[in-house]
Amino acid sequence: MITPEIPRTYTIRTLGCQMNVHDSERMAGLLEEAGLVHVSKVPEYASRATEAGDEGADVVVLNTCSVRENAATRLYGNLGQLAKVKRERPGMQIAVGGCFAQQMGHRILEKAPWVDAIFGTHNIDVLPVLLERARHNEEAAVELEESLKTFPSTLPTKRESVYAGWVSISVGCNNTCTFCIVPHLRGKERDRRPGDILAEVAAVVDQGAIEVTLLGQNVNSYGVSFGDRGAFAKLLRQVGQVPGLERVRFTSPHPAAFTSDVIHAMAETPTVMPSLHMPLQSGSDQVLRQMRRSYRRKKFLGILDEVREYLPEAAITTDIIVGFPGETDEDFEQTLEVVERARFSSAFTFLYSPRPGTPAADREDQVPEAVKHERYQRLVELQERISTEENKAQEGKLVEVLIASGEGRKDGQTSRISGRAKDNRLVHVALPESYQGLVRPGDMVTARVTYGAPHHLVADSALTSGEFTHRTTRAGDAWQARQEADREAQSNAVGLGLPTLKVRGS
Ligand code: SF4
Repeated sequence: MITPEIPRTYTIRTLGCQMNVHDSERMAGLLEEAGLVHVSKVPEYASRATEAGDEGADVVVLNTCSVRENAATRLYGNLGQLAKVKRERPGMQIAVGGCFAQQMGHRILEKAPWVDAIFGTHNIDVLPVLLERARHNEEAAVELEESLKTFPSTLPTKRESVYAGWVSISVGCNNTCTFCIVPHLRGKERDRRPGDILAEVAAVVDQGAIEVTLLGQNVNSYGVSFGDRGAFAKLLRQVGQVPGLERVRFTSPHPAAFTSDVIHAMAETPTVMPSLHMPLQSGSDQVLRQMRRSYRRKKFLGILDEVREYLPEAAITTDIIVGFPGETDEDFEQTLEVVERARFSSAFTFLYSPRPGTPAADREDQVPEAVKHERYQRLVELQERISTEENKAQEGKLVEVLIASGEGRKDGQTSRISGRAKDNRLVHVALPESYQGLVRPGDMVTARVTYGAPHHLVADSALTSGEFTHRTTRAGDAWQARQEADREAQSNAVGLGLPTLKVRGS
């Protein structure tokens, strides 16, 4: 039988944090370098997608997380579904990487012996080799490293978005928060040299990005490994001056290491955006001590006051854990008090759940589930009220929005486009009739906010002949060019090469 040879396809499912999202971009880069193509480019295969999340691919990589709740249950559930798909898809391979893989290693095979490759957070680079080895030896290939061998940013990267990019400035963390498994899995903090970071930012900008987010477990302790405490503020200023870059963001800073020089750098560098994500975790000093987080509520609120003094437009977001072991009603009331004072524009709230391998998991004074849930509900209600008030206060303001793809699920029905304002708020913008189909992800639009909802803003000024401007950007051009290249790759993938005598899977 004669069939055109179709390249091997892959998909990556990312669970967990931004660090994992960025690692997935590197995995994609490595797989593409090894000759695989993303399954979305081969409609013939994409159409065999199942509910297991395989998307129809030959290689499914699960980039796992240990930090989020029920990581193990979710992963094994998903692997169970994928096993069925694999039985019916000759040549299919499943790889598991990320924090959970780093933690569990070979033990994953005890529950899911059909997995082909397991690799950790320190050796993403081995993924293509492991897949090949597993295929050749017809048995699972497992490789884990105790520490980082190659700084991940030197690996090829297939960036998910062309208009905005992530750039790692450090990996690992020197703190020992008692609820967190990250230091154990990602190791001690390692900082990249400023020159390397600037070169990568320039390269990302060169490829079309106008926004860059500097990424690290603990960005503001950047410099600790080469003895420069002011390194992060300096880096912000330098990155902010890269020609062509319009927006610089960073995540996440740690309150204990947050210093005024960073606030000054933010205020004095116009391209550094007025938004800050700073994890509070708890508003009780007693709980913070138990969490081994070395700042106190007073210091945290002091930082917020200083940020607002220098950057009055800043939107501040946070993470909060409810029900840490030993948390009393009084402790929780103190968290509510700090939240009331802090006026976060939004907060990621988590119910504490013990992570095996962390000190807090072994404590006997775990808070009963019912109590945790009741507190969680109260916190969510309070934050919803504040988020709504803060977003309502935006009504009437003119916002500049960097249009993104995939941010507005209902855009099709509402004829709006969506993206992020400078302060990182999600904004849905109405398009004037004459602009329909013209505004691309990566372009900028300016419109007036007409409605503030708890989790987004609506800027419909164009509907009443109010303000609306559209600025085409290099990033929009780059997005368009990638669309065209993807379309071309799709048609090439389907009709690739001359017909051969190879029959897949036989
Ligand atoms: S600062 Fe704490 S919570 Fe953040 S990665 Fe380090 S140990 Fe984990």
